[in-house]
Amino acid sequence: MNVDALIIGAGHNGLTAACYLARAGLSVRVLEARHVVGGAAVTEEFHPGYRNSVASYTVSLLHPKVIADLRLAEHGLRVVFRPMSNFLPLPDGDALGVGPELADTVAEVRRFSAADAQRLPDYYAMLERLADALRALVLVTPPDPNAGIGGLLDTLKTARRLHGLPVAAQRDLVELFGRSAGEILDDWFESAPIKAALGFDSIVGAYASPYAPGSGYVQLHHCFGEVNGRKGAWGHAIGGMGAITQAMRAEAVRLGVQISVDAAVARVKVRAGRAGGVVLASGDEIDARLVVAGVGPKLLYNRLIAPEHLDGEVRQRIERFKTGSGVLRMNVALSELPDFCGRGSVPQAHHGAGIIVAPSLDYMERAHVEARAHGMSRSPVVEVLIPSTLDDSLAPPGAHVASLFCQYFAPQLPDGRSWDDARDAAADLAIDAVTRVAPNFRRSIVARQVLTPLDLERTFGLSDGDIFHGRLSLEQLFSSRPMLGYADYRTPIRGLYLCGSGAHPGGGVTGVPGHNAAREILRDLRRRRV
Ligand SMILES: Cc1cc2nc3c(=O)[nH]c(=O)nc-3n(C[C@H](O)[C@H](O)[C@H](O)COP(=O)(O)OP(=O)(O)OC[C@H]3O[C@@H](n4cnc5c(N)ncnc54)[C@H](O)[C@@H]3O)c2cc1C
Repeated sequence: MNVDALIIGAGHNGLTAACYLARAGLSVRVLEARHVVGGAAVTEEFHPGYRNSVASYTVSLLHPKVIADLRLAEHGLRVVFRPMSNFLPLPDGDALGVGPELADTVAEVRRFSAADAQRLPDYYAMLERLADALRALVLVTPPDPNAGIGGLLDTLKTARRLHGLPVAAQRDLVELFGRSAGEILDDWFESAPIKAALGFDSIVGAYASPYAPGSGYVQLHHCFGEVNGRKGAWGHAIGGMGAITQAMRAEAVRLGVQISVDAAVARVKVRAGRAGGVVLASGDEIDARLVVAGVGPKLLYNRLIAPEHLDGEVRQRIERFKTGSGVLRMNVALSELPDFCGRGSVPQAHHGAGIIVAPSLDYMERAHVEARAHGMSRSPVVEVLIPSTLDDSLAPPGAHVASLFCQYFAPQLPDGRSWDDARDAAADLAIDAVTRVAPNFRRSIVARQVLTPLDLERTFGLSDGDIFHGRLSLEQLFSSRPMLGYADYRTPIRGLYLCGSGAHPGGGVTGVPGHNAAREILRDLRRRRV
């Protein structure tokens, strides 16, 4: 049966776009390669009796407009706060707690530096101002400029017009793009633990040191969200990240969207420069008035479109599009909670925090250098989240599940080695890093699921294991995401759109690319351009 819109991929952005299009009266069908919807926002049983968010693991960036428009709360989505935002176990047995309130962090930081404690409120205020600037930008379709930096400035102008963005915030934002998070944090603070706690976000999925120019933006990208109206907070979706996409699925079904799983798309059908449907891996063909890709740009352009339909420049641009997060993701089933720094295994606030195993920015930089040289960090940076401390639906009573988000593990190993041969060695390095600050950790592991960059590509279709569908660097943001001239969710092929994280404003469980893409598609339909 023909439909108005075919969506490739039931990631959260594909589902979001599907809902908005169906709400506008289009007939919509979603085609998902896996057996389950959700893409990288999914909850799965990785060991009998133990479920977890197996890829993305914590929520903040999901846009409140998407939550409301898609009625996610009515479909059962419930997000809870962490009892402590972050916790940094330190090698000397001490630890730094961050949050949940500013006063808590100030009191903790004062134990390391009175000067840092005094500066902290101003730093957070600065970050919040910049996050507000970014919030004003995310729902804007980037304008088509003729130069990269012009694109940013044009976008800022548009955002200012639309949302009254103050000039001072624009200046701060432009400055942030050129600098590293490490440099900025060194300007503000003197003690290592608070710099590490704040700088961790700057390296997430970037395969870069916190001293790499542009890491300031990566840090900010993690600040524009909110949990239940509390800006900048990160929380846990009860039932795991799959609860978000199951709520989206429910809304899509309510709106009449057809969703097919185990339905991998092999090729977009293009005739006379316009998309007219897809061919499935099974050989079946489905025709449609328009096609919307929720997959990453590299996968779309390199694998799903025959080269003769793209001009040489576009092919070259996509070839140069940077992917590869340098991330290894592990899910572990635990018989008991980790005993961090001798604080014991009885549940405490810090067990519900984002636990960052990386005591300083220098540690992170060393970890990056090691991975560049050897393919993996000997002492990796690990964020540990133990969602079962907040959610009893994930593990048997008394037992726990933990997410380990581990960096750096090169997208491709040097010397032609395969991740299939290095998976266990890499996982052991991450487990050792955690065990150094929680001695009972290794022996408490009942089972583990290890996802190397190669596994992330194989399982979720993430090119080079890129968790954001493409690096969040200046030349790949705003009017340049995924490439200059096609940052407005349209592609060189008429009737083919991009709605995934490879489009503005980039990765994270936001729903925003899906929302914005649907808006542009509906605009084209109104103007009869498709
Ligand atoms: C390990 C990891 C940790 C992360 N942690 C966080 C986090 O804690 N918080 C956060 O906000 N973000 C996090 N992210 C980022 C976030 O999860 C992603 O940016 C986001 O989920 C991507 O959503 P999407 O809808 O754009 O694409 P995807 O989720 O990638 O969805 C694309 C879909 O397309 C399907 N597909 C691929 N090829 C085909 C084909 N040929 N035919 C049909 N379907 C196809 C895939 O199976 C997938 O379902 C993380 C990501 C990863 C991988």
